[in-house]
Amino acid sequence: MNYPSRLIEEAVSEISRLPGIGKKTALRLALHLLKREEEQTRSLSEALVNMRTKTTYCVKCHNIADDRHCNICTNPRRDQSIICVVVDTRDVLAIESTNQYKGLYHVLGGIISPLEGIGPADLNIDSLVARVEYKGEEDAVNEVILALSPTMEGDTTAFYLQKKLRTTGIKMSTIARGVPIGGDLEYADEITLGRSIVSRVAYD
Ligand SMILES: [Zn+2]
Repeated sequence: MNYPSRLIEEAVSEISRLPGIGKKTALRLALHLLKREEEQTRSLSEALVNMRTKTTYCVKCHNIADDRHCNICTNPRRDQSIICVVVDTRDVLAIESTNQYKGLYHVLGGIISPLEGIGPADLNIDSLVARVEYKGEEDAVNEVILALSPTMEGDTTAFYLQKKLRTTGIKMSTIARGVPIGGDLEYADEITLGRSIVSRVAYD
């Protein structure tokens, strides 16, 4: 494409590096920014730079945070005795949006994947074990929920964590796997349907 301006070309090239954004969309966004008040573009770029340079990771749960501890770990209304183990911050956001969970999290920062060369040492596992083993008067943990994807990597990671935490005697569970709400049984794949039957729940 022949751009009328080198500066627009540069902006388009930067914007189109973002995932899911092609050159056409990038151009549309660039032209949109050009039409808006200059101040709005300035606050957009400042917000992006601030986000990139000032956010950090919670020292306790490894979730994204503005300070040493994230908003969830410092919230006195959260149940400090339950930890939900997830792969990354997107999983935290997904579970938070359900409004069904009031405990804390532990973000592993990845999943065990021999194919990609990711082993337990690359993940935030030691700090999870330390949190579970900690027996302070407050903050003592008595349940760990594994909320990992039902994939081979997810199962491998869950198996490793179970083995690693077994000696602590902690109560462990995994999220239920089953047929989606509103889904038709005949369209569920047989592994999902099979798991739903094996981990059936009492009718009440
Ligand atoms: Zn935290």
